[in-house]
Amino acid sequence: MNEQISFIVDIQNIDLELLKLEKMLKEKFKEIERAEHLLGTKKTDMEKLNEELMEISKKADAAELDIKSCEGKMIKMKDTQKLIKTNKEYNAIQKSIKDNEILKKQLDDESLACMEDKESLVGKITAIQKEIAEIENDLSDRNIEYKEKEEESTVIEKGFIDKRESVKSKIKNDYLNVYETVRKNKGFPAIASVMESGACTGCYRMLPPQQFNELISGNVFMQCPICSRILYIEASLPEAAGLK
Ligand SMILES: [Zn+2]
Repeated sequence: MNEQISFIVDIQNIDLELLKLEKMLKEKFKEIERAEHLLGTKKTDMEKLNEELMEISKKADAAELDIKSCEGKMIKMKDTQKLIKTNKEYNAIQKSIKDNEILKKQLDDESLACMEDKESLVGKITAIQKEIAEIENDLSDRNIEYKEKEEESTVIEKGFIDKRESVKSKIKNDYLNVYETVRKNKGFPAIASVMESGACTGCYRMLPPQQFNELISGNVFMQCPICSRILYIEASLPEAAGLK
């Protein structure tokens, strides 16, 4: 293979490794962001549940007070009943007692319903607290892992950058400029192999036969007429081996 072409392939491989590192860190960072978002949602849910619990507790306390007052009235009415002389008074107090009993029954039901609601809310809050603790643990692990990966990546990246500088110094400026321009405009691959069929693996279009032959015979510096990517023939292709 033409030496210059092989250097460009080398520099592309280094650039791909650098990109992989960058993507890996970005993905880890996104995972942290997702966990943080989930944590925020769960905390908001818990706040709402706590507010609901407070409301229910207030309602339960009020029902308890009403029950007490009902019971107090009942005692008084029963005492009054003993002193009653006329039928009319007796009937009136009987009615009041009955009404009070109905009211007390309603209040008891209400109080019971409050208790049940409270119990269910406390259950939900306990569950969400557990979830929050788990997410917080997970987040702390992820942050530690991210720091480690970041440090690790910095070292690996430095190695690649040094290697890149060394390869870069061997590539002719004109070629390097083409590589950088294509990389910027098209992304990877900036240097694309050509298939046995004569198709560019950058755009999957066929090269004109003459150009393909020229490439096979010398693996010269050539750009795809369609996508502008730098072209090369992989050494493993039989044509390259046979025709060279
Ligand atoms: Zn192409």
